[in-house]
Amino acid sequence: MDSFAALRPRRKTRVVNVGGVAIGGDNPIRVQTMTNTDTLDIEATVAQIRACVKAGAELVRLTTPTPKHAQALGPIREALLKEEIVVPLIADVHFLPAAAFEALKWADKVRLNPGNLFDGKIFRELTFDDASYAKEIERIEESLLPFIAAVKASGKALRIGCNHGSLSDRVLSRYGDTPLGIVESTMEYLRIFKKHDFHDIIVALKASNPLIMIEANRLLIATMDQEGMDYPIHLGVTEAGNGEEGRAKSTLGIGTLLMEGIGDTIRVSLTEDPVKEIPTCYGILQATHRRITRTEFISCPSCGRTLFDIEPVTNLIKERMGHLKGLHIAIMGCIVNGLGEMADADYGYVGGAHGQVSLYRKKTLVKRGVPEKEAVDELISLIKSDGKWVDVKV
Ligand code: SF4
Repeated sequence: MDSFAALRPRRKTRVVNVGGVAIGGDNPIRVQTMTNTDTLDIEATVAQIRACVKAGAELVRLTTPTPKHAQALGPIREALLKEEIVVPLIADVHFLPAAAFEALKWADKVRLNPGNLFDGKIFRELTFDDASYAKEIERIEESLLPFIAAVKASGKALRIGCNHGSLSDRVLSRYGDTPLGIVESTMEYLRIFKKHDFHDIIVALKASNPLIMIEANRLLIATMDQEGMDYPIHLGVTEAGNGEEGRAKSTLGIGTLLMEGIGDTIRVSLTEDPVKEIPTCYGILQATHRRITRTEFISCPSCGRTLFDIEPVTNLIKERMGHLKGLHIAIMGCIVNGLGEMADADYGYVGGAHGQVSLYRKKTLVKRGVPEKEAVDELISLIKSDGKWVDVKV
């Protein structure tokens, strides 16, 4: 797609099928979110999933703290299918193994958190030597064996999702509160599943601090590569907050790793309606050039030289031309930096004299002195005459 040196090749991962949506390999980087309704409230949960899917969510995770919550995925899916909404449902399990077993019956993917499934956290300092720690790993393996058999028989996928905030006392005592702790907590599970020949796994390491999240993921990739694991990676900065803060943290954490070729699916976790997470996900994918889903816009910040009211014009152009996937459109206040900055653009809308606009195809001026009121329509006509226009899908 891009030949920029800044964008490293995407890491080769295996393809994991989650309810008909393929994750990893050369598949598009998937966008997911999580409901914040009570999963037992079927109507509210279905309404939220409907809205998220409409906004572009390709997978939806729901919290399933108990087997009863896991069972609720049955009627939720049924209601969605009645409306012809087909979307993979992921059960989010913590603490209760029984919920994980039940979730295998109803979900397309089950998330396990190694920090709290067969381990606990009450901030105890534990002491281990190598032998006693190895015994702990054996204990976890034994505990996991029935689940491994069940997940294999189910044909469902698994997410090993480790959060910085939920590392067990065992891991904290051995590795400290560090990215290494997050990685080892995950690797312990991955090694066990690999040993027992189960590989339909997606891995997620999250932290609320994007710097820790970035470092943990880099270390995870290095460790997985050393051990011959190619599981797809889900990226997210957990508890990122809301508003600009949440979006900035998420963009830093997810965007940095995407640029390095890491990441097969993403979620932006905001303290907001989950529907609002989706545009940010697509924005990060577009900005990193990992998944182009709409028009690429370049617009100047405007200054004293600006020859038209650039903000409303930019909004209008984005509204009317934002669906032209892959096309680059530049909106520039004047010619000073305009031509240089828009060198990569397919079309340019540039302030000429007051109240007049110049339209460019690539670097070539094709219309000069277009009255401002007509310029947006003229730009659309130009795109149409080049055969690059598509109508918005209704
Ligand atoms: S392109 Fe022109 S109007 Fe826009 S910021 Fe640069 S100098 Fe100012």
